Amino acid sequence: MPDRPRPHRPAATRAPPAPPVPGSPLPAGDFGPWAEGLDAAIQGERDSDVPCGDCAACCSAGQFIPVGPDEHDALRAIPAALLFPAPRMPKGHMLMGHDAKGRCPMWIHQRCSIYASRPRACRTYDCRVFAAAGQDGPEGNPDPAVSHQARRWRFGLESLADAQGFAAVRLAAARLRARVLPPELAPAHATQLAVLAFKLRALFLDEAAGGSPPSAERVVGAVLALRAAQARP
Ligand code: SF4
Ligand code: SF4
Repeated sequence: MPDRPRPHRPAATRAPPAPPVPGSPLPAGDFGPWAEGLDAAIQGERDSDVPCGDCAACCSAGQFIPVGPDEHDALRAIPAALLFPAPRMPKGHMLMGHDAKGRCPMWIHQRCSIYASRPRACRTYDCRVFAAAGQDGPEGNPDPAVSHQARRWRFGLESLADAQGFAAVRLAAARLRARVLPPELAPAHATQLAVLAFKLRALFLDEAAGGSPPSAERVVGAVLALRAAQARP
């Protein structure tokens, strides 16, 4: 999610480079370091660091923002009337909705009004995960502005590890789209599918290297383990 207001930058001492053409490719970084960074963000060890530029698409993408029971700052900052219990989640897990135009209610005067206390989902959001999972088209992400941005990212895939890690996320996403999971475990929307594919990528590294795909039982077991870890206080 975009960092607003922008930090002060010193005055340029020479002519700035030409601005990128809208819709032009954006460097997403080498896949491996990017994946390590997103792993750390998901673990709560750091915030994601997407070079968002002027994009603010994900704050008006019609997304329900999850807020966990341990997110005390966010729960204090968000009016209680904007939160409701998250379906299929343990007690205390909440969701924040959006307005009729898909805007987050905390997006006020063109900025996040609770930036310092924004929910974990916002701190860890990284639309490059859609590009990694191949969810960067309108079918994969119904929000046109996020899809547009996600289609621009290009990962560095020079090393074998980077290429295989990237392929493993794609394979995991394809398997999830082929409904390997029972309905009660299946991702409910595009963001969940892309993030779950990213989290499951280690299971698909053998296949990415030319080996066999993991069994459905292994995929289900891995998802149950992730669920159990998430529900732990
Ligand atoms: S859609 Fe992506 S680039 Fe745009 S604000 Fe959100 S995270 Fe940043
Ligand atoms: S809480 Fe802030 S960062 Fe998160 S979606 Fe709303 S406006 Fe964007």
